[in-house]
Amino acid sequence: LMDLEAFCINLIEDLQFCNQQQHTIKFISQGNCTHAKLDENILYSILTNLLSNAMKYSPPEGRIFLILSCEPHAIIFQVKDNGIGIPSEFHQHLFEPFHRANNVGKIVGSGLGLAVVKKCLEIHHGEIYVDTEVGGGTSFTIKFPQQGTVIINNKLSRLPSD
Ligand code: ATP
Ligand code: MG
Repeated sequence: LMDLEAFCINLIEDLQFCNQQQHTIKFISQGNCTHAKLDENILYSILTNLLSNAMKYSPPEGRIFLILSCEPHAIIFQVKDNGIGIPSEFHQHLFEPFHRANNVGKIVGSGLGLAVVKKCLEIHHGEIYVDTEVGGGTSFTIKFPQQGTVIINNKLSRLPSD
């Protein structure tokens, strides 16, 4: 079992350390879920890609949040920023390699991060949702179905399988 909160706190610390633009990056845990069966390397890949996008596509005073919560059968991570947003005509290409939206200006990138995120999610049967508005920020939500054992409110629980 993975300690999700410790993992997120560490990740945020590492990102703050190499954060040149002085964004504020905050981790919020709803506290209803602490441990779960997930592959640490896969989760690392997904969250660093989403968080580095949040940093890259936000103004220097950007406020970025990583939010962890839990439903009875799912672990949910949300990465929120108040950056440039994603134009609606680009949504259909969002997870295609080498595609970038036309509002990125001088911000550099190769258009690979989200393609990697999508592949990683497939391995874990995860889902991804985006809620975004040009100039109004972006929020990515990822959801991992969870079967077996999780720790909820410090109690080891065995989830009934469907
Ligand atoms: P790479 O991640 O390979 O360095 P990239 O950031 O351009 O390059 P992706 O992470 O795949 O590539 O993102 C694809 C495109 O989606 C980006 O170029 C950008 O247009 C848009 N995008 C992704 N995340 C955000 C975000 N948080 N805010 C605004 N636009 C975003
Ligand atoms: Mg990227």
